[in-house]
Amino acid sequence: MSYKSTRGGEKGIGFSEAVLKGIAADGGLFVPEQDIKFDSLELAEMCEMDYKALAAHIFRRYAEDLTDGEIEYCVDRAYGSGSRFDGRDPAPLTRLNETLSVLELWHGPTAAFKDMALQVLPAFMSVALKKRQDNAGGSSGSTAQNGAAPFANEKIAILTATSGDTGKAAMEGFRDAEGIDIMVFFPENGVSEMQRTQMQTQEGKNVRVAAVRGNFDDAQTGVKKIFGDDEFKALLKECGYRLSSANSINIGRLIPQVVYYFHAYFSLVRAERINLGAPVNFVVPTGNFGDILAAYYAYKNGLPIGRLICATNSNSVVSDFIHTGFYNANREFKVTISPAMDILISSNLERLVYDMSCEDEKTTSKLMAELSSAGCYNVDRSTLSGISSLFWSDSSTEEETRRTISDVWNQYDYLIDPHTAVGVNVFDKYVISTGDLTPTVAVATASPFKFNGSVAESIFDCPKDSSEFAVQQKLSEMTGLDIPLPLRGLDKKPLLHTGVCDKDEMKDAVLEFLLREDPGAERN
Ligand SMILES: *Cc1c(COP(=O)(O)O)cnc(C)c1O
Repeated sequence: MSYKSTRGGEKGIGFSEAVLKGIAADGGLFVPEQDIKFDSLELAEMCEMDYKALAAHIFRRYAEDLTDGEIEYCVDRAYGSGSRFDGRDPAPLTRLNETLSVLELWHGPTAAFKDMALQVLPAFMSVALKKRQDNAGGSSGSTAQNGAAPFANEKIAILTATSGDTGKAAMEGFRDAEGIDIMVFFPENGVSEMQRTQMQTQEGKNVRVAAVRGNFDDAQTGVKKIFGDDEFKALLKECGYRLSSANSINIGRLIPQVVYYFHAYFSLVRAERINLGAPVNFVVPTGNFGDILAAYYAYKNGLPIGRLICATNSNSVVSDFIHTGFYNANREFKVTISPAMDILISSNLERLVYDMSCEDEKTTSKLMAELSSAGCYNVDRSTLSGISSLFWSDSSTEEETRRTISDVWNQYDYLIDPHTAVGVNVFDKYVISTGDLTPTVAVATASPFKFNGSVAESIFDCPKDSSEFAVQQKLSEMTGLDIPLPLRGLDKKPLLHTGVCDKDEMKDAVLEFLLREDPGAERN
């Protein structure tokens, strides 16, 4: 299996190379160059596997340049006996009613679904880095004119701007990873108290967090500027560092997400809710289009999926696109109670557009250029009909999202977070609109205890002036549910990262971190 850019500039790239690069040199995203198909016999075998074995089985096909031993190392670290998920099954399925089950993807160390991939991406990167150094060492004769083999002894510096869940999950994933340092920037006044505390209490020898004076766009633009600054990158290179990113366009984040769709399907088969081969629908709360794109890849790999239901909040760019074929980011950005889905540029959609336009790299490049210059693009009729034959989409207003949290709690004694509620609400609309009662899995992307304020106010009257942690406690008492361990007692942990910088000081902050005196001894 090799990878190519959606914009045609790169081809024949191995998995580990694509993981290290993150984004192709032409600005496109890496996509698989060959088809992967599991036939019904193989699906029957996979149905018997536990999560770890299933992940290894799927990775062997997507990451052919990794050895079995390397894959074993990666899946064991992420999902094996020493894993940081809180139960034996990292992705348990809970049945709500005859039709609907919920796939809980929030049992990892940061209580959001980002952990499913970010617990394994660092291992992919370490393995890839080691491979590259070994290769460089083996061919050092031909590169001697540069004085040293490229990449040998080079460390990776991961830079990420976050509006919420990604930064924390990335740091937990990369914490103490060999040969990798990670720095996260968050907007000083743009994250919830829970999210800020989660980040500022982050432990690990190789992590640093800084607040940026400004909003998320300022932090994001600052990071992008650093990635585009050749002079700065040359300076880092002299210091032995190469920049990389952990955001959701990295193919090393996408592939691990394919696994849980298979796992959810097989869980339904093992529970005798469906027969192997029968179709299942999935409903996915969508922001950057990474999670639902992984479902689409599972579909292409032969998983019997009926419809993919794409749920958006009132930032309904993607939903409007699926209806009309017109992607238009020129609209007001709305701050909602499902902030991880507050997004106007859904980067991973590029991969779907590429696929549905028959892998037309010229068209994809043209559309993406239009997106960046004019903020919008139109796909042709056949691309749109390809998309709408599989995808169904709608959005949920703030009011509907709150009411769904309350309805699900009252009907099923089951507590969901606002992102998951967007999904469940859109599923209701799907059933009303189509009458389709195919067994459906709703993807639960975060623990309700990560969004205490909006969850609590949806199900009971809580005083507006209570602190985040008081509300969390009250929510737990009222519902009788345990607060997930990683979210418990955060208010009593020491704040290790209280630095704040201006947006034009971010480069200095990066340098100061990477060139710290005694990296190994920091923040134990
Ligand atoms: C990131 C995130 C999403 C959106 O996922 P995408 O892959 O960006 O579509 C939804 N819910 C939560 C809680 C998230 O953290």
